[in-house]
Amino acid sequence: MEKIVSLSKRRGFIFPSSEIYGGFGSCYDFGPLGVLMKNNIKNAWWKEMIQNHNDIVGLDAGILMNPKVWQASGHLTAGFADELVECKKCHKRFRAEEIKTKNPAPHRPALLQKGGAGAGCPECGGELIKPRKFNLMMKTFVGPVEEKAATTYLRAETCQGIYVNFLNILNSTRLKIPFGVAQIGKAFRNEITPRDFVYRIREFEQMELQWFCHPKEADKLFDYWKSERVNWYLDLGIKKENLREKEVPEKERAHYAKRQADIEYHFPFGWREIEGIHNRGDWDLSNHSKFSKEDLRYFDPSTSSGQVKEKYFPHIIETSVGVERIFLAFLSDAYQEIKGGRTKTTEATKEIEILLKLDKKLAPIKVAVLPLVRNKLELVKKAKEVYQMLKPHFVCQYDELGSIGRRYRRQDEIATVLCLTIDFESLKQDDLTIRDRDTMKQERVKISNLINFLKTKVEN
Ligand code: ATP
Repeated sequence: MEKIVSLSKRRGFIFPSSEIYGGFGSCYDFGPLGVLMKNNIKNAWWKEMIQNHNDIVGLDAGILMNPKVWQASGHLTAGFADELVECKKCHKRFRAEEIKTKNPAPHRPALLQKGGAGAGCPECGGELIKPRKFNLMMKTFVGPVEEKAATTYLRAETCQGIYVNFLNILNSTRLKIPFGVAQIGKAFRNEITPRDFVYRIREFEQMELQWFCHPKEADKLFDYWKSERVNWYLDLGIKKENLREKEVPEKERAHYAKRQADIEYHFPFGWREIEGIHNRGDWDLSNHSKFSKEDLRYFDPSTSSGQVKEKYFPHIIETSVGVERIFLAFLSDAYQEIKGGRTKTTEATKEIEILLKLDKKLAPIKVAVLPLVRNKLELVKKAKEVYQMLKPHFVCQYDELGSIGRRYRRQDEIATVLCLTIDFESLKQDDLTIRDRDTMKQERVKISNLINFLKTKVEN
């Protein structure tokens, strides 16, 4: 993990938030390469949902909503609270769930206390106080007066915006059950123990699909969406052995879930959830109906028998994933160190080279343009012309600093798919060398045919 954190900072993927002020409570900023990669992840998901499936529409609901939404959803009651334990000695706080599952380090023996959390503090071995509920919603005020009536919350999950727009979507699109609504947006949780870099943070982005279906279809669709989502990760290059599914037993499920499966990834710090697949039943629509007094049942004029018209609360299958969490999974999966270097040139032999083997869809930079040397004006001029020609078509980078070997390594480290080198031959033949990141194979391509050639190589 340290290596990934260090690469992220050094090359501009992820920075700690407000770093000049010492950072801020597990918040992070995405740098110049990070924002490109993050957008690529979101675009891949959006394309998968909206273009590759039928009957899914998009939505972009606001972060702030009427606070009644959060009463209806159960987020203001115990439903959305983590159990928190505190150490009497060092005053660190932990999620009770973590303490129960954690094997304490041998030098920190577990202390079993009567009425306590059942184990000692994982930091200092001290006594832990009894678990108590801690709500994760972040409060804010709307309007000029900070009073109770003006209190609302930053959304803790994006899906509520979809449920409260269910009728609007139905009435404005002519969609019929079953159909889906996809949304990407910020969510906020006042996590007790944010940790593991961007794995658990307080401000993050969720990509959620809510699939509305007939109650009888829900089980089948749950399995369908689970396998669709697993395949999405595999298609984007995640190694099979680093991915697994876990059916969540009833007592560990979220308050709204009739059935829940977690997709887990094998991070450097262990197996952890990256995405949740939930059968939410009619929890959301029936509760919003009750609280808003709007009838959110679906009227089906053409039932299977053709005679009995049905009115019912659609059941919801949800797929929910955090962008930053899978950003970290993709980075970890792609990260490779090659001792002694990939090319056994004298310059490289003693070094460890980093290769980031991200899928080309996710790689922040698709093409780097490099003049072979920078002290030859004609080469630099031609390379800059090629760069300007490609820029409108691909995310490109121009680099002339350092030896060509060093520049290839700099690009390998940030997952650049192809390196284009302009050499002395290029001036005569009007062509250039294209080097593939993964195979390091080089081929010469005419500049006149370059755009078409690259389209076949880096486009989806
Ligand atoms: P966890 O048990 O890890 O807190 P959760 O079960 O509460 O997660 P859900 O409410 O199902 O998570 O949220 C769906 C997804 O949103 C998670 O699988 C994860 O990818 C993402 N997510 C949730 N909380 C965070 C967070 N604090 N930081 C980053 N991503 C998050």
